[in-house]
Amino acid sequence: MNETSHRVIDLTASQAWSRLARGNRAWVTGDRDYPHQSAERRQEVARAQHPFAVVVSCIDSRVPPEMVFDQGIGDLFVVRTAAPTVDDLVAGSVEYGPVEDATPLIVVLGHQRCGAVTAAVESIGHGHRLPSHLDVIVESIRPAYEQARAKGGDLIDQTVRAQTLQTVATLTADPALSPRIDTGELGVVGAYYSLDSGQVSVLSSSFKL
Ligand SMILES: [Zn+2]
Repeated sequence: MNETSHRVIDLTASQAWSRLARGNRAWVTGDRDYPHQSAERRQEVARAQHPFAVVVSCIDSRVPPEMVFDQGIGDLFVVRTAAPTVDDLVAGSVEYGPVEDATPLIVVLGHQRCGAVTAAVESIGHGHRLPSHLDVIVESIRPAYEQARAKGGDLIDQTVRAQTLQTVATLTADPALSPRIDTGELGVVGAYYSLDSGQVSVLSSSFKL
């Protein structure tokens, strides 16, 4: 643990979220700043990085976090898995920023028409197992599917939202993250990305936005 890191990242979770929300508004309107993408920035962060947020999002090619939040290099830790799903290895990657660098914010970002969720819903619904490790993803999404089915509505979209909140819950209960969330030094936001509009909407937040 770097004890000086609190002074390096001088942002609260709420301020970090505001920066992401501002970037997303720029993405939606097409009026982006493209910050931190110069050769100077590359040199500035070559020896040390202090990203202000961790984004946990899907592998989907249409949801690149640096673009949808209008950020550059050195700004975000990005962990991308299908849906997104979390296991111990993924949790370790999410822990890295908050534990080692006092990163103040984690955003879990699900998205509209998620292919992984769609495949899981079809696999479970039809009783057809997907091959190899794809089935591991399906099983990881199954609890969200069950929640969504009980709730009704658009099964795929509800499963996306339930899966996002499941991932938030898993990370919120993480032994390394939970105490930091309790003190407020770390915030967690669950969010939903619209492929149609580019807009990120908040589903849940551990702090006052
Ligand atoms: Zn997806």
